[in-house]
Amino acid sequence: MSTALREPVLRTYARQDVTFVRGEGSWLWDDAGRRYLDLVGGIAVVGLGHGHPAVRAAAHAQLDELWHVSNLYWTKPMEALAQRLSDRFGGASAFFCNSGAEAIEAALKWARKASGRPGIVALENSFHGRTLGALSVTGQPAKRAAFEPLLPAVGFARLNEPDSLAAAVGPDTACILVEPVQGEGGVHVAEPHFLAAARDLGDEHGALLVFDEVQTGVGRTGTFFAWEEAGVRPDALTLAKGLANGLPVGCLLVGDSAPTGLEPGDHASTFGGNPVACAAACAVCDVVDDVLLARVRAHGAALARQLATLPGVTAVRGRGFLLAAEVERPAGEVVDAARERGLLVGTAGERTLRLTPALTMGDDELEQALVLLAEALR
Ligand SMILES: *Cc1c(COP(=O)(O)O)cnc(C)c1O
Repeated sequence: MSTALREPVLRTYARQDVTFVRGEGSWLWDDAGRRYLDLVGGIAVVGLGHGHPAVRAAAHAQLDELWHVSNLYWTKPMEALAQRLSDRFGGASAFFCNSGAEAIEAALKWARKASGRPGIVALENSFHGRTLGALSVTGQPAKRAAFEPLLPAVGFARLNEPDSLAAAVGPDTACILVEPVQGEGGVHVAEPHFLAAARDLGDEHGALLVFDEVQTGVGRTGTFFAWEEAGVRPDALTLAKGLANGLPVGCLLVGDSAPTGLEPGDHASTFGGNPVACAAACAVCDVVDDVLLARVRAHGAALARQLATLPGVTAVRGRGFLLAAEVERPAGEVVDAARERGLLVGTAGERTLRLTPALTMGDDELEQALVLLAEALR
């Protein structure tokens, strides 16, 4: 086991005292050789499990060919990934970067340029990342306070309250920014009627509708994009977490019917569209097929039902394999108790456990996880 205080690393994280050295599927091994069942998946990132063979093979093959040339030139994996995402969206163009926050930064710049307006309407309790722009549209005062002043012209409305959104949107609004399921904020699902109201308000006021699918995208909620289930297509969306199964990649995807906005010289990322990350992401897109998505919907619903029966669980929320359980004890205590039993779970709030298992997790593994979690909750 490792020690908590060590190494010249800035203390921006409250890390758990464990060092992982190997992963395979839904399992992780620490430096003492102990095995853990992983229901965190690198925070909804390793969606196909650790070391997924198809993703690993694609990344390996690309490592042997070419790692980086910059966006001065074209590369095949980047073009192939853009094509796959466009096909899934129903016609769209991609800008590639390396993280969720960067994808949000691209979205904010795109929305301002494309609309010629300054205003952003986001939601209370939302999470869009830690860079100054992304933090400016994150509706969690505690995360923002120490870094103000942030971007001006940002307003916040309440999730699932169309009247609150209507009051915030006006002639200066460049875009409405919504997570189809608020992830970090506690796994709160945006109801289809609310997303439809956001779509209507955007159309009425000439504001663009942007969905932050950094956490919900790439199959996490049981459809490739979470908007598909609600049937509300945004003008643009952001992706990152699960897109390359753990290699860094982010994406702003702008639908073909939306204004293009950005022109050469407006925005850039040196590492964006990295060939290895894009090759891995292409493999991810190919693995996340209709069969896997149907499995996520069915198993996610079953897992939610079973979670609700565990001792000390007072409520269960979420969609697909993005689930939260409200618990009677501080969630951190449950996380520690679970880890001691060889199970990794996450949190999204003081008394909220967050479960984001691999979309590929086996039935027996899910069963085992529930047994261990029940023990940890006792
Ligand atoms: C994690 C997350 C982000 C930020 O992504 P980073 O890669 O950490 O910058 C943005 N939006 C949502 C919805 C997220 O879940």
